[in-house]
Amino acid sequence: MAAPAATDVPARADAGYRGRFAPSPTGALHFGSLLAALGSWLLARAAGGAWLVRVEDLDPPREVPGAARRQLETLAAFGLHADEPVVFQSARGALYERALADLLERGLAFACHCSRSALAAGGGLHHACVAGARRPDPAVRLRVPAGTQVAFDDGLQGRFAQDVHAQVGDFVLRRADGYWAYQLAVVVDDAAQGITDVVRGADLLDSTPRQILLQRALGLPTPRYLHLPVIVDAEGHKLSKSMAALPVDAADPLPALRAAWRALGQAPHAMQATLPIEAWLQRALLHFDARRLPARATLPFAALHNIAGANAV
Ligand code: GLU
Repeated sequence: MAAPAATDVPARADAGYRGRFAPSPTGALHFGSLLAALGSWLLARAAGGAWLVRVEDLDPPREVPGAARRQLETLAAFGLHADEPVVFQSARGALYERALADLLERGLAFACHCSRSALAAGGGLHHACVAGARRPDPAVRLRVPAGTQVAFDDGLQGRFAQDVHAQVGDFVLRRADGYWAYQLAVVVDDAAQGITDVVRGADLLDSTPRQILLQRALGLPTPRYLHLPVIVDAEGHKLSKSMAALPVDAADPLPALRAAWRALGQAPHAMQATLPIEAWLQRALLHFDARRLPARATLPFAALHNIAGANAV
């Protein structure tokens, strides 16, 4: 079948929409990340918006050398091209530094000298510093006073509420080893890149209230959030832990794209065709229906086919 013409693409619904995919280069692009990449791409494109890629290379001890390059090559092989140059968090320390200095100056963040064992004694949550030896390398935390509750309406998972003080406590913005914490960097970058819509895995649902608190503290806008189900294995573990079982094959993208399409609850019959990748994606855009996205936090990989089958029209 011929590829649909560009004019077949749905009209722009929200020209201001800016979405993103933000992989951490801790390994190969696995099926779970492909799902977030394809889901965020489809939602951005269906809204006539921009889709950006940001490499979250903030944690050198966990980084796999060459993984960022390979992930970007894999995205390209899957036809998922960013509209703007890829941003690397490792090069953006000055932005995080400025945000942190602002929070420290206003007394919203503080240097924390607590030891690991002191924190463990308090159940792992930080509510107040315990007196002890001062460390040469304190972490910096955001103060989360008692009664700090955050609720938001997720685009797929519905209302999500968290008592951030009781469930999370004062959280780290810069680690004792000097590295930036994900929560601070993601908030600074989503704002700096003008992201209006964050689409990512539901494993980050409970990070979102922390991010909203930080946005409020820094006077930044809160984007819309939509958390896609996380693919789990038979034991209910996140797929990235058993990634070796399901690497996505950059040399043969269509089977993985079709599986991701089904995992996104989309009608499988529309996308069985074997087409060049760009044509397949344009066709996917024509058939994509956001109302079919599965409103659940996890999706067992083994059940993918059945779930898609039950939804098929
Ligand atoms: N870098 C995070 C990850 O790979 C995703 C961050 C986000 O989308 O906010 O899990």
